[in-house]
Amino acid sequence: MAEAVSLPDKAWEFVVVDSNAVNAFVTHRDEVGVNSGMFKLTIDDAGLAVVVGHEMAHAAKRAQGKRRPGISKEKRKNAEVDFVRRHENEMEADRMGMYYMAKAGYDPHAAIQFWMRAVLYCAARGHDSNAKRKHPDVSLRLKAMEEYLPEAITEYRKYAQCQ
Ligand SMILES: [Zn+2]
Repeated sequence: MAEAVSLPDKAWEFVVVDSNAVNAFVTHRDEVGVNSGMFKLTIDDAGLAVVVGHEMAHAAKRAQGKRRPGISKEKRKNAEVDFVRRHENEMEADRMGMYYMAKAGYDPHAAIQFWMRAVLYCAARGHDSNAKRKHPDVSLRLKAMEEYLPEAITEYRKYAQCQ
């Protein structure tokens, strides 16, 4: 996966956190953490690649952002703009994550399957998967991922042909 992201100056670290909470994260030091509770949803390597790819995308995006001039402070004050930006960031991380996983040789269909499992998991526990509006509506994310799928599959096929 690190090769697929192709940011050679990054020293990625991958850690599994012993916690039942279904969560994953990336720190500012490029440590990608996946809680052991997440394995209920990832199921296999491709599922894990979905989660890791998404988190790596956040870090990759951050690295790109540093090279660009800062985002207008004016905009940041506006909560609604902030929310929209977060939406876009999450959907972009989904897309970039699919690209990375495909490039690393994992079938990008797994991203959609993973998110379907996540929706069912939340529903079964009576949780609203869109709780706190921290992440964009999951149906919108799924729709965007489905739209991106053909492109990711092209990338995945390229990988398969190289083997
Ligand atoms: Zn995210």
